[in-house]
Amino acid sequence: MHCPFCRHPDSRVVDSRTTDDGNAVRRRRQCPECGRRFTTTESASLNVVKRNGIVEPFSREKIVAGVRKACQGRPVTDADLGLLAQRVEEAVRASGISQIEANDIGLAILPPLRELDEVAYLRFASVYQSFAGLEDFERAIESLRSDGVTSRHGGEPLDDEE
Ligand SMILES: [Zn+2]
Repeated sequence: MHCPFCRHPDSRVVDSRTTDDGNAVRRRRQCPECGRRFTTTESASLNVVKRNGIVEPFSREKIVAGVRKACQGRPVTDADLGLLAQRVEEAVRASGISQIEANDIGLAILPPLRELDEVAYLRFASVYQSFAGLEDFERAIESLRSDGVTSRHGGEPLDDEE
């Protein structure tokens, strides 16, 4: 690592700590030549390939912004959204890839959003999966029901649950 002040090609690590979100390591370095200190941040990169081919770094803020619209009027807090974005990032990173299609980010958002709020989930899915009409909503709602959501609340068990 070059010293940013005198361009000396070497530096010594004097302190090393993980960032709050746990995804990066921040190192305090000292230049043996000029003695000045500087900080570097190392993180496992995760990039998103957008539909138009542009690659940009993964951003939790963008996940939150995208999901927030679907949560309007719902009992979902900023903390809920932050946690959801964190779960999406963890799920993507757990897959071990360093680059993901924007489309697949949408897919990764669906499961945690579904646990968070079913109405917001339906809204988000309807936009993201381009629901064409009532049939698509019916299918999505049926899928919510068949996963035991109704029976958890005392509803009738479905025929195919045997
Ligand atoms: Zn230096």
